[in-house]
Amino acid sequence: MRIKFLFIILTVFITTACATTPVSNRSALILIPQSQEISLGKQSYDQILKEETESEDSQLNQIVSRVGQRIVAVSDMPKLEWEFKLIESEKKNAFALPGGKVAIYTGLLAVAKNEAGLATIMSHEIAHVIARHGAQRMTQQILLQGAMLGAGLSMKNNTQRNIILSALGVGVLYGFTLPFSRSHESEADQIGLLYMARAGYDPNEALQFWQRFSQVKDGKAPPEWASTHPADATRMQGLRNYLARAKYDYQNVKTKYGLGQTFKLPQPEPSPGKPKPVPGVSVEALTP
Ligand SMILES: [Zn+2]
Repeated sequence: MRIKFLFIILTVFITTACATTPVSNRSALILIPQSQEISLGKQSYDQILKEETESEDSQLNQIVSRVGQRIVAVSDMPKLEWEFKLIESEKKNAFALPGGKVAIYTGLLAVAKNEAGLATIMSHEIAHVIARHGAQRMTQQILLQGAMLGAGLSMKNNTQRNIILSALGVGVLYGFTLPFSRSHESEADQIGLLYMARAGYDPNEALQFWQRFSQVKDGKAPPEWASTHPADATRMQGLRNYLARAKYDYQNVKTKYGLGQTFKLPQPEPSPGKPKPVPGVSVEALTP
């Protein structure tokens, strides 16, 4: 009798907790109030920014912020308190957190190559936020691990902090990774591609970006973003399937930026140890 009662309560709770994602109209189980999700996103953002260095390159900062603003203006949540930061780091990484907190690492700009490449990354991350994938993943992890629900979640509790950060896709920075599921990735690709096109960036560049990204290797380890975002054949096929609709939206958009500006990035320092060749002098002659 008691079990039956609990089952009814749980069923009511779960049915009322189902949310529908914008654009793709999928329903999802979310047991975390949006206000709490946003607050946890902000806390995670503050914590990460404390440990990272913000870029002082005013031109690149301007580009990141204008690409971000153009995307959120055409998104389904333009009114969140969006913030766009450029972090000075060789890491090839990027993330967006509930509440609209976005960060791009300078290391990823070389792969982005131009504004449309950057728009591919940012619109995909923004789509994760808008589809509330972080809250869905927190819900899954909480149910799996039997942690406290809803308002009981706190960044101060170590176990819960790990659940929160990995669910929000930033756990990789702290050594625990929870890759996004195939369906969340495909949904973020689909929504992101449309946002990018509606923001005025050529959606064809998304396929070019993912191709470039699949060829990037950071020494022995794959780039940070790749551990949660593998650029595989399934992803490429999915993008091709959504491209027609994105191109249609792009055709109808008033202001088109195409690929936008190509980045002028500082060249990496030549690796130490090898003497620089001097014209007319052989390298051997320089070494004792
Ligand atoms: Zn993703």
